[in-house]
Amino acid sequence: MFNDATQHRQLARPYRKALLTALLILTFVSGLLFAYININRANYIVAGAEFGMSAYSIVLLFGLRLTQRLEFWVFAYLVPFFSVMMLALAAPLSTLNVFIWVLLIPIVSHLLLGRRLGLAMSVAYIAIASGIFFWRYGGDPEIMQPVILSNIGVLTLCLIAFSHVYEITREQSENRLVKLAHSDPLTGLPNRAHLQSRFEHEQSRHQRHGSAMSVVLLDLDFFKRVNDNHGHEAGDKTLQHVAKLLLVDLRKTDLAARLGGEEFCLLLPDTDSVQAHAVAEKIRVRLASTPLDFNGSQIAVTMSGGVAELGRDGNALNDLTRCADRKLYNAKAEGRNRITL
Ligand code: GH3
Ligand code: MG
Ligand code: MG
Repeated sequence: MFNDATQHRQLARPYRKALLTALLILTFVSGLLFAYININRANYIVAGAEFGMSAYSIVLLFGLRLTQRLEFWVFAYLVPFFSVMMLALAAPLSTLNVFIWVLLIPIVSHLLLGRRLGLAMSVAYIAIASGIFFWRYGGDPEIMQPVILSNIGVLTLCLIAFSHVYEITREQSENRLVKLAHSDPLTGLPNRAHLQSRFEHEQSRHQRHGSAMSVVLLDLDFFKRVNDNHGHEAGDKTLQHVAKLLLVDLRKTDLAARLGGEEFCLLLPDTDSVQAHAVAEKIRVRLASTPLDFNGSQIAVTMSGGVAELGRDGNALNDLTRCADRKLYNAKAEGRNRITL
């Protein structure tokens, strides 16, 4: 369908957008609060940066509502936000407890950027924060004690590890759900939803390169008899048997989907209808000559099919399957076990 990274980015969009919105509102409020506190402490540079960050988050909040490019706005927020944090750490008037904010970096980076970019961003800013820490407190024997340094170091590492592992497991369960939602449980073939998204992907490629693409609709002949004569379990096994045979003659770039019942659909990129007919014929002959061995009895099934070509027979998947279905109907009327062009 898509590559994994694009897919995760697409799926994470709504929740990352909601999270960024919440962070921007929080930044606006807390920026004003800290600016006020720092003005009273005459810490003017940090107060100015905090006030600037507060105003900037309002601008981002409006930009975010209109944008399609979420990733750009995430960077536009995180880089200045973390940089102001670094400035606050480095300011001579700031106290040691400001370093608590560093713990926010791995969490926010991973939630907003995913595991790879999130880790890179966390490591980069935590390295800068560590540099500032040793520059400011390296000569302070009260702070440079093994127990204090271990506490800070281990806690920071824990937060990086937790955020990273959380993001990995979240992506894995997302993968599993996407796979489940896009495949048919009985045969393991892609389902109609998968066919639709793959079709849209191929369609834009077809428009760019002007290559041909065909769709073949296949329906098993007298399948009801298999269930009636051998039982429903035999029917299910036959569907699995057919699903396996469908794949034998297909190329890696082709797709065989189960649309439901005993109906299947082939999506054949870079294939015109004449070539698609030849592919479907090959599959038809293979199925007719390969009966299923079910508990000692041979179950032979045949299939009928209809072919439609993108452009010539329609431009939407629905139009193509409707056209192929008409031809399939003709194949049934003409005696079954055939593919009509
Ligand atoms: P035709 O040649 O005209 O297509 O005849 P047919 O018997 O194949 O067509 P019909 O649509 O009348 O019957 C389809 C049958 O497929 C009905 C149903 O019992 C069976 N079927 C649909 N889905 C499943 C399934 O998941 N498992 C099993 N075992 N049977 C199924
Ligand atoms: Mg049928
Ligand atoms: Mg049918």
